[in-house]
Amino acid sequence: VAPQPTIALDNRFARELPELAVPWQAAEAPEPRLLALDEALAAELGLDPAWLRSPEGVGLLLGTDVPSTATPVAQAYAGHQFGRFVPQLGDGRALLLGELRGRDGRLRDLHLKGSGRTPFARGGDGLAAVGPMLREYVVARAMHALGIPTTRSLAVVATGRTVHRETPLPGAVLARVAGSHLRVGTFQYARLTGDPDLLRRLADHAISRHHPAAAEAENPHLALFDAVVAAQASLVARWMLVGFVHGVMNTDNMTISGETIDYGPCAFLEAFDPATVFSSIDQDGRYAYGNQPLLAEWNLARLAEAMLPLFSEEQEQAVALATEALHGFRGLFETAWATGMRDKLGLPGDLDPALVPPLAEDLLALLRADHVDHTSFYRALAAAARGNVHPARDLFLDREGFDGWVARWRALGPDGDAMDRVNPVYIPRNHLVEEALTAATGGDLAPLERLVEAVSAPYEERPGLERYATPAPPDFGAYRTFCGT
Ligand code: AMP
Ligand code: MG
Ligand code: MG
Repeated sequence: VAPQPTIALDNRFARELPELAVPWQAAEAPEPRLLALDEALAAELGLDPAWLRSPEGVGLLLGTDVPSTATPVAQAYAGHQFGRFVPQLGDGRALLLGELRGRDGRLRDLHLKGSGRTPFARGGDGLAAVGPMLREYVVARAMHALGIPTTRSLAVVATGRTVHRETPLPGAVLARVAGSHLRVGTFQYARLTGDPDLLRRLADHAISRHHPAAAEAENPHLALFDAVVAAQASLVARWMLVGFVHGVMNTDNMTISGETIDYGPCAFLEAFDPATVFSSIDQDGRYAYGNQPLLAEWNLARLAEAMLPLFSEEQEQAVALATEALHGFRGLFETAWATGMRDKLGLPGDLDPALVPPLAEDLLALLRADHVDHTSFYRALAAAARGNVHPARDLFLDREGFDGWVARWRALGPDGDAMDRVNPVYIPRNHLVEEALTAATGGDLAPLERLVEAVSAPYEERPGLERYATPAPPDFGAYRTFCGT
């Protein structure tokens, strides 16, 4: 293997925001083994996939062998967890290795999860198990392939160390790539320090990395807030349209970039129901599927509070500006959602947008009443647009209700082929994810690799992948996910 030419890992975050960065080192791994690598992403970053598979490359992916110019840091942040404010969270088991400039010229964070205890670890062991890291790996790959903004999974390396949870489990480190790891919680932490200069530098760093147009605005920090509101409204609309349940939308798990982050207890809907909760720790259903837009707005209100001194020196004026900006969220979300539903239903782009929500709401009521699988339904409906109504109609008990709805929809001239370009065949279905993680934990990577292959091209129906397009068998039962392991 040819040696990797110099890896230019910048330390811009650590340099510009040293108050938020604790220089730290990754833990050694007794017996590293590469379990998964996204070769296309490696190439986008200018990293040679063959080199990443070498012992030196794996050392970079574990953080144990980094260029001498790099400054790995644990990042400080605060956050509201299930509505309760925690003034100091931070990277307890994660490290920012630094920033890489990709082939497209964009700067991206290279970040590790499961790389050992840091000063933010509190009671935690700093480690991660193979299963949850591979879950993040596969779900983030699926989200990216679906065209949904997300942190990306570069690799998972098994460490050879045992992690003690309810049972002993093999340990792993996830290497992920993101526009940045700036969170709502990062602003909450900066605000709490009481240092107005730190808060300003953080906002300027965020503008420069994610929302450069805000720099030209009359009030750049208010424009930054507006841009985050818009990015999150668009992101959460995409989640709703694809049936994604994040599961732990705490303010430390919401980015400033508008990328999905921190795939813990996340899962995809099968039977459509707004009350769906998968996470075992979300006992009140705070982060249920149908609550996600409301909770995004709640989190943005916490961001506004943190940023308040940046909007105006006059507190009353700052509150008025923040309130107005926050009020933009609902309209932006509703427009993004209605446009997305118009496309999912194959309706013409020049259709009066006001016609979409009532039609879509009536459909969702039918899906909910008959527990119809959210993903396969839209592919079946595309067949109805092409003249064969049976695959969709057969999914309902209430055939009369469905027939009435279809007549209204058909009158608007749906295009079935256009529907197939926006409605996925393959999502990481919960029973298939579990099957793949269980096999991988036991040493068999084949089911994971097949699942990644299916969800990496989600819109392209292929022979031999039927079981990846089919809901869980009834004996799989109610799905529960577990957090923070
Ligand atoms: P999460 O639920 O993954 O978003 O993490 C919430 C907080 O707990 C963050 O500050 C994490 O760094 C920290 N954390 C989670 N698991 C561990 C662990 N095993 N060791 C140390 N810190 C952890
Ligand atoms: Mg988190
Ligand atoms: Mg986490």
